Amino acid sequence: MGDKILIVEDEPTLLDTLEYNLTREGYLVCTAADGWAALEVARRERPALIVLDLMLPGLDGFEICRILRQEMSVPILMLTARDEEVDKVVGLEMGADDYLTKPFSMRELLARIKALLRRVRLVREEKANDEEPVAPREQLAFGDLVIDLTRREVRLQGRPLTLRPMEYELLLFLARHRGTVLTRDLILERVWGWDYTGGSRTVDVHVRWLREKVEADPAHPTRIVTVRGAGYRFEG
Ligand code: CA
Repeated sequence: MGDKILIVEDEPTLLDTLEYNLTREGYLVCTAADGWAALEVARRERPALIVLDLMLPGLDGFEICRILRQEMSVPILMLTARDEEVDKVVGLEMGADDYLTKPFSMRELLARIKALLRRVRLVREEKANDEEPVAPREQLAFGDLVIDLTRREVRLQGRPLTLRPMEYELLLFLARHRGTVLTRDLILERVWGWDYTGGSRTVDVHVRWLREKVEADPAHPTRIVTVRGAGYRFEG
């Protein structure tokens, strides 16, 4: 469906011509024939663009521009008569985005409308790109225990835990293999690396430290359980 365009024009013949041609181009057209109606229709219809005649009964185009600028960011294409040319600069300063001097060809008007809408769309897209959120946070949750991979943070019941770097790496490795029995050697190799020479006691020590932080009762662990003669298993 085409963009909605509000045409504000007090000459009935010109208004009809504009409405006919814009509708034929696929735009949704709404109209107003005086200044007050222009404000009312603009507020109600929220058009994508306004074609605004400068000299109107009620409020003139300058006034309408000034008021609408404070309410919405709709692009405004001002129509001026040849003898109003002195007002062009003023019109642009009042917030019209472009202007066209009567008489103008319909082709010229359509080209200006397309250009304005394209410009607005580009600005909107750039803005949308700027506001695009960062990738959703990657986290593993096990009940009240949450491992936030994006922030390298572990929270228990909503409160961040203070973990040493290797405690964090160990917990993450265990959690990623939830339910699987992991031998001390495998854990050592995968968490500490091939070249680590500290021995498998390192794993036991870190598991004990971790339990003190993540277990409700470290003496009777339910999250990181010992599998006798094999290693450890993360239960969640
Ligand atoms: Ca007029």
